[in-house]
Amino acid sequence: ESKKIKNSIHLFEDKMEEGYLQNVKIEQALRSAISDDELFMVYQPQVTPEGDFYGVEALLRWQSATLGFVPPDRFISVAETSGQMPAIGNFITQQTLKDVKEVQSTLNRSFHTSINISVRQLMEVGFAERFIQSIQTNNLDNASITLEITESLFIEDIDHIVPLLQEFKDHGLEISMDDFGTGYSSLSVLRRLPIDELKIDKSFIDVMFVDESSQKMVQNIIMIGKNLEMDIVAEGVETQEQVNILKAFGCDRIQGYHFAKPMRKEALVQYIEEHDIV
Ligand code: C2E
Ligand code: CA
Ligand code: CA
Ligand code: CA
Repeated sequence: ESKKIKNSIHLFEDKMEEGYLQNVKIEQALRSAISDDELFMVYQPQVTPEGDFYGVEALLRWQSATLGFVPPDRFISVAETSGQMPAIGNFITQQTLKDVKEVQSTLNRSFHTSINISVRQLMEVGFAERFIQSIQTNNLDNASITLEITESLFIEDIDHIVPLLQEFKDHGLEISMDDFGTGYSSLSVLRRLPIDELKIDKSFIDVMFVDESSQKMVQNIIMIGKNLEMDIVAEGVETQEQVNILKAFGCDRIQGYHFAKPMRKEALVQYIEEHDIV
């Protein structure tokens, strides 16, 4: 028995070391990712429960020459702790706004775009000013841009964050609380925040048909959000059954593989042409 424990401790240490080494490799490879053109954006459609196109979420991709494909939730935290997030965040903003402008010009129509903003980006001095300036430079409408802020960020320092978000709101942008349900925000906190949209985390959608309490939870989140006059988006929706029940609960928008995976801007043009409301 004690040998087993010893072995598992070794395994654990190996895993830790592996993770650490991997982080060092990621940190180094990431330093040249922008200049080597290894980063790009993909766009996942958000649709109404009926399947009509509404807008997109911009998601970052990294195809590394040395490490292969590295998923964003693996390298963004490394970017943050190694001081690379200002540069990568700037890439995300610039590339997304440029791509979106191009797609909108091609289609001669506007649509909503959600951009994920990390903790550290929001804290950067002058971030809001630069961000809003970039929207103007690209000739896009402020009201078409939504910032997605992960719920866990709000708990860190709400008094500090509210005025930062308010600056975006004052300029007509919308704010979405991402990964909602994973961060244990209290209702009183939720009410104080300048939030337009709640995004229900995929982990809740996944188990909607596994246990009844999860389904109730989703229904309650939607009701609470509606009472606070927020729009509700469900992420990670993969089946028609999930769509049906979310629709019955009053969910406003759906994002997930059931309708579309994240795609490059060229494919997005085609997707919108095929799913636009006539
Ligand atoms: P997130 O913001 O919660 O993004 C949703 C994730 O769910 C995306 O993964 C998306 O591809 C995935 N997804 C959407 N629908 C489905 C579905 O039906 N099934 C499954 N299995 N997955 C689905 P992705 O692109 O790998 O991103 C993971 C996380 O990395 C994001 O979670 C976000 O936290 C972070 N991230 C991605 N791009 C950016 C970015 O540009 N900036 C920042 N700060 N974070 C980003
Ligand atoms: Ca998001
Ligand atoms: Ca997120
Ligand atoms: Ca999520």
